[in-house]
Amino acid sequence: MTGDGPRCDDCGGPGGAEWCAALFGELLTLDYSRREPWGPLHAVSVACYHFQHPSRAVSGSGPFYWSLLHFYLREGRDPLIAVTQRARRYNTHRTGGRKPGPDDFPGAPPFPSPAAPPAVYDTTIADVAVGGDFPAEGFEDRVRSWATATLSAWAATGP
Ligand SMILES: [Zn+2]
Repeated sequence: MTGDGPRCDDCGGPGGAEWCAALFGELLTLDYSRREPWGPLHAVSVACYHFQHPSRAVSGSGPFYWSLLHFYLREGRDPLIAVTQRARRYNTHRTGGRKPGPDDFPGAPPFPSPAAPPAVYDTTIADVAVGGDFPAEGFEDRVRSWATATLSAWAATGP
């Protein structure tokens, strides 16, 4: 992809919005295989894509994903997995009668609610995908860059 091609309206990445959607579909397939290194980072990938593509996002889940990404960058992968598994158990069995929410990942700054979301990010899903197939080598490092770029762009929209 060169700088002359179509760009995604949401994240500013190369190839256009349909290319981002196709890459995300590819990534979800890898996630649902539950294999390393993709599966354990599924929640982080969904959160990053959500924030970078607000026009496709599920409304109301912003504060949850915001808290989750901050928790991941601060605490790391394994604590994140422990919390998401616990939250999922609540959700599956409904023993606690509640869904996972922002409170599961304490310590994040307040969620910004900008009038207009960011349209440019230092790292997009195209960077994480490299050639389009999300190679395992360096995948977690690229996801971390994706998360960092996502939060810093959103934080910059704040008052
Ligand atoms: Zn995009």
